[in-house]
Amino acid sequence: MVKQFNAFEMAQQQFDAVAEKLQLDGGTTELLRWPLREYHFLVPVRMDDGSVRVFKGYRVQHNDARGPAKGGIRFHPQETVDTVRALSMWMTWKCAVVDIPLGGGKGGVICDPHNLSPREQEALCRGWIRQVVRNVGPVQDVPAPDVMTNPQHMVWMMDEYERITGGHQPGVITGKPVEVGGSLGRTEATGFGVVYTVREALSRLRIQIEGVRASIQGFGNVAQYAAKKLIELGGSVVAVACWDNDDHAAYTFVKPEGIDIDFLLSITDRFGTIDKDRAREAKYDILPADAWLAQEAEILIPAALENQITGDNAAQMHRRVKLIAEGANGPTTPEADAIIKDRGIFLIPDFLCNAGGVTCSYFEQVQSNMNFYWPKDEVLERLDQKMTQAFHAVADLADETGEYMRDAAYMIAIQKVATACRLRGWV
Ligand code: GLU
Repeated sequence: MVKQFNAFEMAQQQFDAVAEKLQLDGGTTELLRWPLREYHFLVPVRMDDGSVRVFKGYRVQHNDARGPAKGGIRFHPQETVDTVRALSMWMTWKCAVVDIPLGGGKGGVICDPHNLSPREQEALCRGWIRQVVRNVGPVQDVPAPDVMTNPQHMVWMMDEYERITGGHQPGVITGKPVEVGGSLGRTEATGFGVVYTVREALSRLRIQIEGVRASIQGFGNVAQYAAKKLIELGGSVVAVACWDNDDHAAYTFVKPEGIDIDFLLSITDRFGTIDKDRAREAKYDILPADAWLAQEAEILIPAALENQITGDNAAQMHRRVKLIAEGANGPTTPEADAIIKDRGIFLIPDFLCNAGGVTCSYFEQVQSNMNFYWPKDEVLERLDQKMTQAFHAVADLADETGEYMRDAAYMIAIQKVATACRLRGWV
């Protein structure tokens, strides 16, 4: 029987191994291996046909010792409370590793937004906020977009929060449209941040970025902007793997001389599905889901969901792969980590690699709270600085101690959070 993958067990397993290395005391270990608080609730929505559907929603606050909890809300049909728990825990480490004064949280709704009309989605967003209005807010917990949620969802949520509490409070949520308190650069931030860390890793590995090839899993917000930035810096993307909403399967679109992002976007529908016939006409090879691992490339960027590089498929990674940059949260299982270590592939772990999104969210929150907005260049410049600094702090520790990059990132993050808990007198 195939073992059911549980993201929270994996997050705890990763944490436990490092807590032991750090000789963290029992109380701190127990406190940090569980979420501090979680809210489980129902969101009834009046559907367009007049019936009422009840959705299950969550908000999990893993830790807020370093500042208000922070993290996205996912809309996904396979969402589970354990996935949300894992993601909230990873947010705590993410904010700590890039040293922004925020804790970790995550939310979710079990739903498939593809099957909901815009009006139904709005009702769901407003209903979600009504259930947690006492538990989120600029100084408590600040949600943001994640898988299948977008700036429009965020602005509906902000509006509902402001209607209930009165007054303008744009700092309640990030990832808003720029017209209503969003930050310039937020859309690009996660993908660009991934490539800032890739650029730094390549320079440590003494590999020229010009001419470097990447194979990417995913074609959503993170993947698209990572691809754009990499191409801008002189690299190319030889493949993207993308979910096909009509076939309920993923495919890898391959072009060894380099994909054209704008062309692929022009043949992608509003659900993110790439038109296979038109891709074929343009001489893209269309291969099965896992084929992105096996393309001849120096860099792999998993930028879709968790649990994608596993003990079962890691052997398929092309022998030229030198670097894995985890754009997604939790894409690599501990079994795959063992294979990556064994092959000496350099890893930029998820909560470091994809921290550009939350870092820009932090900038957005600061701007929203000040009601004073910065030019895009300034946002991206500050983002680059934060990502570059955080990357080298982790890589230096990995070099000094011989630890795997994931463990080095955990060591830095856990120590920061543990210190905050200790200083507050929690442990
Ligand atoms: N959902 C993104 C993440 O996983 C961004 C979170 C945020 O901006 O708060 O990092």
